[in-house]
Amino acid sequence: STSSASGEAHLVIGGSGFLGSRIALALRQRGEKYVSVFDLHAARQPIEKVEYYTGDITSESSLRETLIQVRDKAGLEAGGSKGVVIYHTASPVAGLGPEIYHKVNVVGTQTVIAVANKPELAVTKLVFTSSAGVVYDGHDLINVDERLPYPKKPLDAYNDTKAKAEHLVLQANSKQAGKLKTVALRPAGIFGVGDRQALPGFFNVLRTGKTKVQIGDNENLFDWTYVDNVVHAHLLAADKLDAAPYPADKLGDIMISTRVLA
Ligand code: NAD
Repeated sequence: STSSASGEAHLVIGGSGFLGSRIALALRQRGEKYVSVFDLHAARQPIEKVEYYTGDITSESSLRETLIQVRDKAGLEAGGSKGVVIYHTASPVAGLGPEIYHKVNVVGTQTVIAVANKPELAVTKLVFTSSAGVVYDGHDLINVDERLPYPKKPLDAYNDTKAKAEHLVLQANSKQAGKLKTVALRPAGIFGVGDRQALPGFFNVLRTGKTKVQIGDNENLFDWTYVDNVVHAHLLAADKLDAAPYPADKLGDIMISTRVLA
C-alpha cells in the first residue's frame, strides 16, 4: 500500500516536471517527512516542505552533494535499515537532437547509478521512469509484456537512449541484501494535472485549424494513463523493491492478470 509513510528519505530527480512533481506531492501527502527534488529547473509551483536542489544529472559532484544533504537531513547512515530512495524521472523534452538525449538519458543515468552505488550515500533503491517507446519500432504492439525484446532498429534517439538507460538501471540491481535495488516502469502516454505536452498539443491542432486532415482510418489505439496512477505505480514499486521476490511458480498468474487488465 502507498497509504502510509515508509520513513525513508526520497529524492525525485526531475521533480520540477510533470510526473516528478506529482510524485513529490504524493510522497508528502502520505506523510513522508524527507522529500527532496533535484532538477535543472526551479519548480513552477514549489510544494510545501519539499527541499529543492538545482543541478544537472550529468554532474556527479552536484548529485553527490545533494545526496549528502538528503542523507544528513534525514539522519541516515550507510548500512542502516532505512535509506534514500531515488525516483529518476528526468529526461529532455521531445523533438531535440540525438546528442542531448545521449548526454542526459545515457550518461546522466550512468551518473545517477554510479552515485547511488556509493555506500556512504546510503541510497537503497532506484526507481527509473522508462517509456513504453523502448520496445516500439513503428509496428502495432498488442498485448505485449516485458518479455518483448528491444527492437533491432530503434524508432528514434529518444526511445533508443531511454532503452539504453533502462537497461543500465536494470543491470545495476543487486541481489545482495543491503545493496542497491532497482526497477524500471514503462508508461505510455501520460495525461492529467500539469501536462504540457499531450493535451496542449491536441488543443494546438484545434486552435490552428489543422483538423481537416486525417492520417489512417481513425481506428488506431494508444495507451494513456492518468498521471496519479503512474505516480501510484512508482510509489508501489519503491515500497516493494526490497520485499521478498514473488514465487517464480506464481509469475504466470501475474502475467495473465496484467494482460487482462491492459
Ligand atoms: P517533464 O519535461 O515535465 O519533466 C522532466 C524534468 O526533468 C524537467 O523538470 C526537467 O527540467 C528535468 N531534467 C531534464 N534534464 C535534466 C538534467 N540533465 N538534470 C536534471 N533534471 C533534468 O517530463 P515528464 O512528462 O514529466 O516525463 C517524466 C519522465 O516520464 C521522463 O523520463 C519521460 O521520458 C517519461 N515518460 C513520459 C511520458 C509522458 O507522456 N509525459 C510518457 C512515457 C514516459
